[in-house]
Amino acid sequence: MRCPQCSGENTQVKDSRPTEENTAIRRRRVCPDCDARFTTFERVQLRELLVVKRSGRRVSFDREKLAKSVEIALRKRPVESEQVELLLSDIVRRLESRGESEVSSSTIGAYVMAGLKGLDPVAYVRFASVYRDFREVADFQEVLGEIARAEASTGAFEVDADTNAKPSDGDASGQVNVTVLSAHSRTTS
Ligand SMILES: [Zn+2]
Repeated sequence: MRCPQCSGENTQVKDSRPTEENTAIRRRRVCPDCDARFTTFERVQLRELLVVKRSGRRVSFDREKLAKSVEIALRKRPVESEQVELLLSDIVRRLESRGESEVSSSTIGAYVMAGLKGLDPVAYVRFASVYRDFREVADFQEVLGEIARAEASTGAFEVDADTNAKPSDGDASGQVNVTVLSAHSRTTS
C-alpha cells in the first residue's frame, strides 16, 4: 500500500483487527520513510451479478424477475410457497457460489429446470417450453420423454395425478403429456 503522504512503497502494517461486527478488517499502517500513519479497511466487495441474455445483452440479476418466471410455471400447481422460496434461495446461492460476475440466462434456466424437475412435472414442462423455446409438439414430446425416463428410474413424478391438469396458457402440453407418458409407461413397464 503506497504511502498517501510521500508515495513511498514501503509502508508496513502495525496492527490489524476485525471491525464493523466482523464485516471489515481495520489496519493501522506506518510509512518508514516519512513516518506517516494511516488506516485502511478491507471489506468484501459485493459484486453485481450480470445476466448475459441470448442476444448478448447484459442485465443485472433480479431475484424478483426469477421468482416471477418460476411463479408463472407453478401457477395453480399444488406447491407450497415455502418450497418455492427454498428453490429460489437455492438457485441464488448456487449462482453466488460460482464466484463469477456474469452468468448466462441459459445457466439460470438450467438451474430452474433442475429445481422444478424435483418439485412439479407440469411446472417443469411449462418452464421448459419457454426456456427451450418450444415450437412444435415434438419439442414437448422430447421433454416429456425425459420426465418419463426420470420417473421410470426414480419414481419421482406422480404423472397420473396430472392427467386433469389444464395448462394455463392454452397450449396443448397437457394432452401431449398424457399421450406420451402413457405410451412410454407401456414400453417401460
Ligand atoms: Zn511516507
